[in-house]
Amino acid sequence: MSGCVKCGLPETYQNIILDENHVCNYCRFYEEHRKEFSDFQALEAQFVKEVEAAKKKAAQHGAKYDCITGLSGGKDGAYITYELQHKYGMRVLTYTLDNGFATDFGRQNIEILLDKLDVEHIWINVKDSTLRQFYSASMKLMKNFCSVCFHFCHYYSHLLASQYGIPLVVNGRTRSQILQSADGEKGIEPFEISRNLKSFEYQMFGKLTDKLDGYSCLDFLPEAEVTSLSYFMYHDVSEEEKMRFLEENIGWIRPKGSVPHPDCWAHPMAEKCSLEKHGYPVRTGELAELVREGKITLEDAVQEREADREAYQTISSEIEERFSKRISFKKRL
Ligand SMILES: [Zn+2]
Repeated sequence: MSGCVKCGLPETYQNIILDENHVCNYCRFYEEHRKEFSDFQALEAQFVKEVEAAKKKAAQHGAKYDCITGLSGGKDGAYITYELQHKYGMRVLTYTLDNGFATDFGRQNIEILLDKLDVEHIWINVKDSTLRQFYSASMKLMKNFCSVCFHFCHYYSHLLASQYGIPLVVNGRTRSQILQSADGEKGIEPFEISRNLKSFEYQMFGKLTDKLDGYSCLDFLPEAEVTSLSYFMYHDVSEEEKMRFLEENIGWIRPKGSVPHPDCWAHPMAEKCSLEKHGYPVRTGELAELVREGKITLEDAVQEREADREAYQTISSEIEERFSKRISFKKRL
């Protein structure tokens, strides 16, 4: 087999370095830190410490909320909001970026959550021409558009936090998303916790953040001191557990089938871009990470990856047209 013998990452995976035993740099890093990554008692204690510090700071600021978290309509934001409120006794502000990619599934679940949890929620509408400009540029430069949504979500979470005096943003990145490209401690929780937008964007995009710094269209809100925590780095909850929990506790509706990212109708387009640009599906790194953590077998990871490749090799022309219409520039008055 070419690629990593432990996690199944292909030899073409971005920035992969295979050693003489065909083990990748990501597996080596994980093995070095397996103890820290799997000691959930210590991880949760670290999370609680940050939560307590945030509550104290919010009280000092006279803030109405202790933390802010984003809702896309998927399970992660919903689960986190519930737990922050009920388990950690936090006053939570929620928000959703209206990027034009929301699905009925997502919107319905946001409504259910807001109704059941009675939390305050803000819809954010970025100026349409700005969004189109970012999506088009990002497609042209990187053949990727998800990073634009990530950027605006994090930008607005930090902006709202600083405006409302909220000291903490809690995000729904999964452990697999965080650890899929981790081969050093820099920018990786729990070793390094972000205290401002720029360091958070570094966690998401790595060195690209340094390259983009200085572009006038990107504002890193240098005055805003806001801590970011990735909830699932500190808590061991499976995807199935999250869904069952939400179904039982708030009447959340499970997506039909096992479509990745049912909260975004353009996801097939993201898969197509990944196949064209990298030669492998979006979940490749995440599946390899689940193998490292012993959550799935190597065989299952390869099988799922190949199933994604098969499913997204060709996508419906309807989605492609809808996508192109969504991101292209519009004639205006
Ligand atoms: Zn590996």
